Amino acid sequence: MRRIQKCATLSFNGKKNGHHGVPATLIPGDGVGPEVIGAAVTVIAASGVRIEWDEQLAGASALKRTGSPVPPALLTSLKRTRIALKGPLETRVGEGYRSINVHLRKTFNLFANLRPTHSFEGVNTRFTGVDLIVVRENTEDLYAGIEHQVTPGVVESIKIITARASTRIARFAFEFARINQRKSVTAIHKANIMKLSDGLFLKCARRMATAYKDIEYNEQIVDAACMRLVTDPASFDVLLLENLYGDIVSDLCAGLVGGLGMVPGANYGDRGAIFEAVHGTAPDIAGKNIANPVAAILSSALLVEYLGHLKAATQIRTAVNDVLRAGRIRTPDLGGKSTTDEVTGAVVKAIKRSA
Ligand code: ATP
Repeated sequence: MRRIQKCATLSFNGKKNGHHGVPATLIPGDGVGPEVIGAAVTVIAASGVRIEWDEQLAGASALKRTGSPVPPALLTSLKRTRIALKGPLETRVGEGYRSINVHLRKTFNLFANLRPTHSFEGVNTRFTGVDLIVVRENTEDLYAGIEHQVTPGVVESIKIITARASTRIARFAFEFARINQRKSVTAIHKANIMKLSDGLFLKCARRMATAYKDIEYNEQIVDAACMRLVTDPASFDVLLLENLYGDIVSDLCAGLVGGLGMVPGANYGDRGAIFEAVHGTAPDIAGKNIANPVAAILSSALLVEYLGHLKAATQIRTAVNDVLRAGRIRTPDLGGKSTTDEVTGAVVKAIKRSA
């Protein structure tokens, strides 16, 4: 697997690692969240990285205990630590907030969502050689949530695209590509229909491409890109997308490599980051100790990398790859019979072996 190396725009310039480790907020979340986040915390500890976790409630569990899905203590903790490992949150409980995830991303200006998606040896899918980086703009587009009813039976939802946010995410994608020796960036759009909004997004991407002549720049219309992703995914490298297309395409990409339980995610801002798996609360399997912890564990690798622990990040990824390649221990979503705890235990063992 190609490593996501430390990137200047992705590194943490916060407090130094003290005696008890770097302070970070831990949000177990809802549904399978506590199970997979527990796995990630165990794996980070096994890698030797010391983190002083400040555990906070959010989502349905917070609503039940505190009366709010986004309690003030959570926001205070995030403002202090500026880094979090987060489980999925049940958002429909968040009355007053359209989505708690969107609220957190906007409050902390986490403008870039990164989802590294690659094939795993030993995990059978229809595709091999997938090695994609999805870079999704996180703060605007239809997710700005500006909707109103014009008249009964007619509603309007406004798509906001700004040059500022489009330029910022394009710079992030190209910078990431350069630092990680990726070959190309493909901007994905529907500018043939949304000439002004997606046109602006493209204009900003094109302008940024001129400053990164070492990186090949391509454009593709979103519907054609989806078809190519399921016929020839290995032909893509870094994908640059607006918020809504990014949301949809990243789940599609997860499907190429074994499903939602496999793909990590990170939301980066200039002054902080939240790391989380791509999947949701998976209520159908919550509490059964069968959720696949790989996505959360790989998200924790992105977190330790962000803190500058490159060796530990590589160790975690290698351990996950080794366990999957061996093929004996895997959760039911991958056709296995193992529990979340058994997968976690196997990853910890593999880390210890490599230490
Ligand atoms: P939410 O409303 O929180 O998004 P959801 O069920 O609509 O929940 P996901 O939680 O993403 O969406 O789940 C979609 C499907 O993928 C479910 O069948 C779920 O069991 C499965 N799934 C999601 N995450 C995992 C995981 N970590 N391990 C195994 N299966 C998973």
